[in-house]
Amino acid sequence: MVEETIFSKIIRKEIPADIVYQDDLVTAFRDISPRAPSHILIIPNKLIPTVNDVEQEDELMLGRMFTAARKIAKDEGIDEDGYRLIMNCNAHGGQEVYHIHMHLLGGRPLGPLLLG
Ligand code: 5GP
Repeated sequence: MVEETIFSKIIRKEIPADIVYQDDLVTAFRDISPRAPSHILIIPNKLIPTVNDVEQEDELMLGRMFTAARKIAKDEGIDEDGYRLIMNCNAHGGQEVYHIHMHLLGGRPLGPLLLG
């Protein structure tokens, strides 16, 4: 049994969040602790704890995360200047919430990618 996180409650609108996009497969909302002027989390409506749990049957939903990211970046007005998409996996990746999510960050120059 996979344990739900706070993100499941956000999808079902049981707790407040600034939802910027939602469809049958994904939900996107503003990060509660933004690290950039635009910091949005794009998550599947289906609970998948980590990228290690992604299956072939999830490919449509994973693709939707990218088309949602593209649309949101345009809506935020950051598509031309650019932005960064990040997914963290497990402890060494810095994952805190075990419901996969794509961070969309933009609205300022982000500098070089931290790889260390
Ligand atoms: P992770 O470190 O797992 O990749 O990122 C989790 C993100 O979720 C963090 O950036 C954190 O600020 C955000 N977050 C955690 N709890 C909540 C919440 O209740 N609401 C919103 N909007 N964001 C949250």
